[in-house]
Amino acid sequence: MIDYHMHTYYSDDGKMTLDQACKAAIDNGLLEIAITDHMEIDWPYRDMPFEIKDIDSYIKEISQCRQKYAGQLSVKTGVELGMQHTTLEKSTAFINKYPFDFVIASFHIVDGCDPYYPEYYETRTKKESYIDYYRTIYDILPKYSDYNVLGHLDLVKRYSPYEYEEDDHKIGLDIIEAILKTVIDQGKGIELNSSGFAHKSQVPMPHPEIIKLYKDLGGEIITIGSDSHKAESVAYKNKASIDLLKGLGFKYITCFDRMEPVFIRI
Ligand SMILES: [Zn+2]
Ligand SMILES: [Zn+2]
Repeated sequence: MIDYHMHTYYSDDGKMTLDQACKAAIDNGLLEIAITDHMEIDWPYRDMPFEIKDIDSYIKEISQCRQKYAGQLSVKTGVELGMQHTTLEKSTAFINKYPFDFVIASFHIVDGCDPYYPEYYETRTKKESYIDYYRTIYDILPKYSDYNVLGHLDLVKRYSPYEYEEDDHKIGLDIIEAILKTVIDQGKGIELNSSGFAHKSQVPMPHPEIIKLYKDLGGEIITIGSDSHKAESVAYKNKASIDLLKGLGFKYITCFDRMEPVFIRI
């Protein structure tokens, strides 16, 4: 049982301490977690930065937790790295500078706009809102390799004001397939982001059909993460996530150690 996506007070939207995250993980029977606070280089909303507040103390405090909970819980040093065209070189420099175990490459910005905000959808139809998000991933990801998994591939559905429909995961499926092939060719993976279970779709991100497509294309590397920002949601839908992956034919989930995959039988 692992949780490879969570945010603490080192993220601007995090609402738990590192120690609270570790305790919550232990209380939920987890054996390993990765702390993955937000690092958004060149975040366009300057009044609301999204970057690890004090990177040196972040690295140090995770290492202290690792020692404190040794034997009970394995604590990995991760980051959720925001991807934009302009930040690829800076991202590589950042990742190489610190001893990360695990990097989630996430797309939170499309043409300078965060799909979290209504203005993203004001100028786009539902279909365009999906396609533009996927196209951004497809434009950027092939040029960047200092990551381990692609975060919440169909995030755009989370904040969309358009009505959710069951076939929404088929929008842009050809681009999704191209993204997944890129990920596989790069030797990288995707995450099952279980926060999606709380969305009206009641399925993780990406949609199980997209996870199945990834598997059918030969994808093997997959992590499970709750994307929790508070202690109560650490390990959220962990068992349901593992059951879903088993049902899709996965025999392993993936952990990371200094950016190298370690396969855990499920
Ligand atoms: Zn994210
Ligand atoms: Zn996150």
